Amino acid sequence: MEAKTQINKDYRIKLIYMSNNNLFIVTAPSGSGKSSLIKALLKDNKSISLSVSYTTRKPRVGERNGVDYYFVTIEDFLKMRNNNEFVEWAEVHNNFYGTHKSFVNNRDVKNNDIVVEIDFQGSDQIKNYYPDAIRIFILPPSIEELRNRLILRALDSMEVIERRLSVAKSEIMHAKDYDYVIINSDFNLALSEINYIIKSTKLRFQYQYLKNKNLFNKLGIAY
Ligand code: 5GP
Repeated sequence: MEAKTQINKDYRIKLIYMSNNNLFIVTAPSGSGKSSLIKALLKDNKSISLSVSYTTRKPRVGERNGVDYYFVTIEDFLKMRNNNEFVEWAEVHNNFYGTHKSFVNNRDVKNNDIVVEIDFQGSDQIKNYYPDAIRIFILPPSIEELRNRLILRALDSMEVIERRLSVAKSEIMHAKDYDYVIINSDFNLALSEINYIIKSTKLRFQYQYLKNKNLFNKLGIAY
């Protein structure tokens, strides 16, 4: 009981600093179609920007530095981590990945919603920092479909694909901690669902209040 009160109190304090720009965390196992969905989402919504992560993973064919990721050496990554430059970081598939603080801190400066595409470990860390972050998990229709997509994508060796699949199975368990879940069996349907989520969050009480403070005050709604 004591601990619960404490958490509620703490949450309430953080809400006072809430922004009227959303921070979306999108998590999905490799091959679930997350990147294509987010690309299409950004095309439809010019007021959303994507946080570009830092990684020690080698670029895949077609990936561009500063666009898909900032590709850095392990030494540089560890230097940044030790300088406390990341709002979250994690080791995924034997590589380091991290979200730079400047991206998520900038949401009010840029007056933009921000999407971060990260794994569940990073998602928990960001949620701790920003309790108003909205978490979306993208599920594949089945593990077999996930395997097929990873094979078709032809970006990784079979050994890497099997490793990614076994990680995927444990990642999927974390969907229960997220606010929204999208099952990506049909791309267009999944895209319209993620668009519904984005739009509906703008109608939440807190956001409407921050956006329409004068009206709410005139109507006698205090918060
Ligand atoms: P990939 O190597 O396939 O691009 O990404 C592998 C995994 O790392 C994905 O689950 C992706 O969401 C996650 N990831 C990408 N960037 C970040 C980040 O900045 N932080 C964390 N925690 N995970 C990330």
